[in-house]
Amino acid sequence: MTALRDILVAQIAAQGPLTIAQYMTACLLHPEHGYYTTREPLGTAGDFTTAPEISQMFGELIGLALAQSWLDQGAPGLITLAELGPGRGTLMADILRATAGVPGFHSAARLHLVEVSPVLRARQAAALGAFDPVWHDSVEALPEDAPLFLVANEFFDALPVRQFLRDGRGWRERVVGLRDGALAFGQTDALPNSALAHRLADTRDGDLVETCAPAATIAAALGARIASHGGLALVADYGDWRSLGDTFQAVQGHATADPLAAPGLADLTAHVDFEALARAAPCAHTRMAPQGELLERLGITARAQALATKLGGEALNSHVAAHRRLTHPDEMGTLFKMLGLFPHSAPTPPGFLNDT
Ligand code: SAH
Repeated sequence: MTALRDILVAQIAAQGPLTIAQYMTACLLHPEHGYYTTREPLGTAGDFTTAPEISQMFGELIGLALAQSWLDQGAPGLITLAELGPGRGTLMADILRATAGVPGFHSAARLHLVEVSPVLRARQAAALGAFDPVWHDSVEALPEDAPLFLVANEFFDALPVRQFLRDGRGWRERVVGLRDGALAFGQTDALPNSALAHRLADTRDGDLVETCAPAATIAAALGARIASHGGLALVADYGDWRSLGDTFQAVQGHATADPLAAPGLADLTAHVDFEALARAAPCAHTRMAPQGELLERLGITARAQALATKLGGEALNSHVAAHRRLTHPDEMGTLFKMLGLFPHSAPTPPGFLNDT
């Protein structure tokens, strides 16, 4: 039993089942027992690892892509350099180190971080304190008066999704209720859902689709800022152009787990529906690419070879393994995608292909 499970069982007994989104929000962000509120999830002692934690090359290439896009947009003298869910601050530290040699980029940048976890804010302060970051609880609080150059790696997958099962022309919502006093999945009756009207064409009875309202709200806020002042948002995460099927998952101790087994103790995520982000930000231009291809086009192989000349033994083996892990289709290369959001008037950012 976890403390949070007792709280949720009592709440469901009194008020009825929770949507998957309500359950995810409670598990991740409960003020006392939430996963992100209470622990440091990353690293070997944590539950999962991420691309910037695997190799410095990830942040270096992303940083140079941001800086090139800044140059392509006329090198504006004041920009918001921002990250959503910066974890331990590793990605932004690599971005800042790689861009230190780009004349004018650092002096133009004001660093803004969106982070809910007090534990991780402290880690970010230790890694990035020299750059005077300003923290925010939400994307809406990011400055609205300057070009926005932003990264978000494995942030959108942590946002709460709702799940709907196609039933005729309606949809049953998947919920978390109780069976014999234990948390169990259930379904509501079928109801029409106007937000899913566009999915009637590509789904059949019994298909499951996921929606993520907070992700759409955030993408709209980023798109609006980028459309009015310029910039580039790079969103990296696992997922596909269009969501189909149940991707709600729990990870604990680097292994997948039952999402209902240990509320507050496991990381809960869902795949990102990149089309939904693009649809929510029509004022910005969008491009998506598989992570492996994008990193190749940004020059990861040349960078990997340059770093390898200084390494030997175990360090060289782990460097070679990290390069493969970030790019190979059997590892993160295909499952992970990167979405770029940029002004309609700006050149396509480095690494993405032009209109085909
Ligand atoms: N980007 C980092 C960490 C990924 S873990 C990396 O790649 O290593 C997810 C991050 O998003 C954590 O920093 C977590 O605390 C933060 N986060 C999760 N949900 C959030 C929310 N609703 N608002 C702001 N930050 C959130």
